[in-house]
Amino acid sequence: MARTKKVGITGRFGARYGRKAKRTVKQIEENMKKKHVCPKCDRPYVKRVSRGIWECKKCDAVFTGGAYVPSTPMGKTATRNIKRIVGGL
Ligand SMILES: [Zn+2]
Repeated sequence: MARTKKVGITGRFGARYGRKAKRTVKQIEENMKKKHVCPKCDRPYVKRVSRGIWECKKCDAVFTGGAYVPSTPMGKTATRNIKRIVGGL
């Protein structure tokens, strides 16, 4: 598979979409597939159920998050902002 060496998992897109887009997709998909740490029990048993929905196989917690990773940088910012607003009241 020398042809797909550089693009890795995104090799299935062939020559389409360009290198930059494929590199982004590769990053996202690799993130998606690795184990994620559960925010409740702190164990890496979180699996993606469907887009934006994640489930911990250890403590059965189901939670929403980013479409491809459990927590997005944007979500973290939002959480921080919400905490700041609520804390300021
Ligand atoms: Zn858990």
